[in-house]
Amino acid sequence: MNEKIDLRSLLPYEISDILKKNGMEGYRAGQIVSWLERGARSFEEMTNLSKEHRKRLSELFEISNMAECESLTSKIDGTVKFLFTLPDGNYVESVLLSYKHGYSVCLSTQVGCKMGCRFCASTKAGFERNLSAGEILLQMVEITREERKKQPDFRIGHVVLMGIGEPLDNYDNVMRFLRLCNCKELFGIGYRNISLSTCGLIPEIRRLMTEEIPITLSISLHASNPALRSELMPINRRYPLEELMEVCKEYTVKTGRRISFEYALIAGVNDTEKTKSELIHLLSGWMNHLNLIPINPTKETTYRPGDRKKLEQFAASLQKAGINATIRRTLGADIQAACGQLRREKQLR
Ligand code: SAH
Repeated sequence: MNEKIDLRSLLPYEISDILKKNGMEGYRAGQIVSWLERGARSFEEMTNLSKEHRKRLSELFEISNMAECESLTSKIDGTVKFLFTLPDGNYVESVLLSYKHGYSVCLSTQVGCKMGCRFCASTKAGFERNLSAGEILLQMVEITREERKKQPDFRIGHVVLMGIGEPLDNYDNVMRFLRLCNCKELFGIGYRNISLSTCGLIPEIRRLMTEEIPITLSISLHASNPALRSELMPINRRYPLEELMEVCKEYTVKTGRRISFEYALIAGVNDTEKTKSELIHLLSGWMNHLNLIPINPTKETTYRPGDRKKLEQFAASLQKAGINATIRRTLGADIQAACGQLRREKQLR
């Protein structure tokens, strides 16, 4: 027996090809995918397909599902954190954020993370496995399903790959996910409404340039010089800051899209006068945007944010020097749903 293929990881044309090869009508792929988008978890629910069709389909495909979904809502800002249990017992977390312009979801791409950034909770329990494209998409499906119980016309507008894991370390599955998420029969999210954040895997950033997938690329910068960056982010020893900046510039030239840098301020570590001038030097004169955030505390580190006024002054002096810097709002802090606070262990509180 061949192993069954997960229907959630396939694009409509791929499903259509398989159907045709097996003597079924290709257009049924559209019907099937539309069921998946509306939250169907089994072939039995696809009632516009005959019993015979459903039986044939279940011989060819499987439909991956979460084993369990729990959620927690922030009392401060309504952000919802979802804890999903995968069928193999692993956990991933996703976050639903509500903005003036609509809903964004922050998705996980791996169970755990190998990158070891000192300030991030997601990496503390190590790496377990990659998520498949279907499992990344399934987080959106489940969030949509839950929210539509309360708001029938609920729609996700933006997707950010900033949950647990390093998306570019799971390159093929993430690229497939991007295509699925963009496809009009599924969520139809425009590439410009999708952001992918990376700690800076240079070969994969190069590969991404050739994909013609015009998403927004975010780079986790967090330090303005190589020594500090290597201390905070071990990946810098493999892919040094200087080379990373070169490839980022190349990316903007090749794609015409600016790079967005994330920079979490840690009091006394990366918020000094010296840091400021190094940042100005790194970012002046080319297409980029700097997102400043106060570091979110995690229980394993002593890294703490500075006071708000200092953050505002830091932003203001960068802006004065011509840097396109803004302060990003922190959402979901009371439910440990903010950047760098998601974990792969069950810890929903
Ligand atoms: N692995 C990817 C995406 C996941 S993390 C990456 O490194 O970009 C999403 C963002 O949260 C990254 O910018 C990450 O550096 C940041 N982050 C991690 N821990 C944080 C913390 N404690 N406070 C604020 N931001 C943090």
